[in-house]
This record gives sequence, C-alpha cells and structure tokens, in this order.
Amino acid sequence: MTIKVAIDGPAGAGKSTIAKHVAKQLGIPYVDTGAIYRSLAWQAINANTPLDDENSLVQLAESLDILFIPDGDSQRVIVRGIDITHAIREPEISNKVSLVATYPQVRKELLTIQTTLSQSALGVVMDGRDIGTSILPDADVKIFLTATVEVRARRRFEEMKRQGFDVELEKVLLELEARDQADKQRKASPLRMADDAVALDTSLLTIEEASAMVAALCEVRLRTRRYNKFI
Ligand code: C5P
Repeated sequence: MTIKVAIDGPAGAGKSTIAKHVAKQLGIPYVDTGAIYRSLAWQAINANTPLDDENSLVQLAESLDILFIPDGDSQRVIVRGIDITHAIREPEISNKVSLVATYPQVRKELLTIQTTLSQSALGVVMDGRDIGTSILPDADVKIFLTATVEVRARRRFEEMKRQGFDVELEKVLLELEARDQADKQRKASPLRMADDAVALDTSLLTIEEASAMVAALCEVRLRTRRYNKFI
C-alpha cells in the first residue's frame, strides 16, 4: 500500500535524519528537497551567476541535472556527473541558499524535479519547507518538526563538526535564525505548518524517539486505510 509522508520544519529540527529513518522503516524512497535547492545554489556560485539574477537562476534550474544515488543509509548528490554531496553542506551554500529559494519561477522549475522524484509506486518520504503546503498537499501524513533554536543550533554544529567543517556554535545559531527568517518571510511557498499537519517538538527527544513517533503515525494511517477499505 502506497504512502506519502511530508516532513517540514525549520533548519536543524532533525527533518532529514528522521525522514531517512522513517523511509527505511517503511521501505520507501526518501527525497531531500533541501539538497535540490542547495545544488542549484552550488551550481550558480560555480558558474559565477549572481544570486540576485532571477532569469539566469531560472535557466540554471531548468537544466539542473541532479541525481540521488543511494549510499548505505545515506545518499550521494550528483550534479552534471560531479559528486557534490559534501560541497552543498559548506557554510557558504547554507548562507546563500535561501536567497536562491525566494524566487517563484525558480521554485516552479524545481517543483518539476520534486514532482518526478515523488512519483514512486511505493510512496515517498519528502522533507523540506513547503512539502505539506505545496509539493504534496495530498500527503497521507504531514509532520511539522520543531525544536528550540538552541537545540537546533547545537545539533547542526555537531553534525557539521562530524562532516569535517570548522564551525563555531554562535555563528551556526545566527545562521540558522537568519535562514529561518528568510524562509518564513518569503512570498513564494514560505516555511509554514500545513493546517492538517501534526506538530512534533523534538527538543527533548532523541532522533530514534522522534523517528519512532513519526513511523507510528504512518502505521496508524496505513491501518486506518486498510480498515476503511474492509468495512
Ligand atoms: O533542508 P535544508 O536546510 O538543506 O534546505 C536548505 C534551504 O533550501 C532552506 O533553508 C530553504 O531556503 C530551501 N528550501 C526550500 N524549500 C524546500 C526545501 C528547502 O525553500 N522544500
């Protein structure tokens, strides 16, 4: 039985880790939509495209040749044959990606890629900022993950250190706050909780606990559907 799961929320709330766990448990694909925006920002910076030049960004988005290759419990991001998995996590990309994501025409182009990636017969777990509100408005389960900014910054800081980046906690916190503001305030599909989403504050939860809660919600949804079919 197919199931579509939308996971949204601010940066560092645990979306991608939890989404990966849940997708693995349900045996369905996972799509990291943030990686698509990051790839576009990476490509624009590498092509010396000014990030305020909407038309050029739209052209880059139209021809964005992105591949997600499974790699153990994770996935590699390949753009035009180049492995940019690590490069798109660089602080420079994190600081600039929200600007690229503000343009409605850019979002429209990237919507095509996201729609294609969401159409697995098994279903999908997608995480981002506008999945429940724009990309998968008919998702079976919508989760809005939150956590205090201090907890989110600490998690992002630890994650970046593990990835080998030289970062400072205070800077990471300021960058998260700035990105959240930009994502909430933009006009085109801003970061917002869908009316029919379930809010889950992960501040005091481990990733395993939060993943188990999301997976349980998916299970309830699947069972309710089987039951409704039966009666
Ligand atoms: O999820 P991640 O932090 O990698 O996303 C990077 C950025 O991409 C976000 O801060 C946001 O500006 C943009 N984004 C978006 N819509 C999505 C996913 C990401 O605007 N669905």
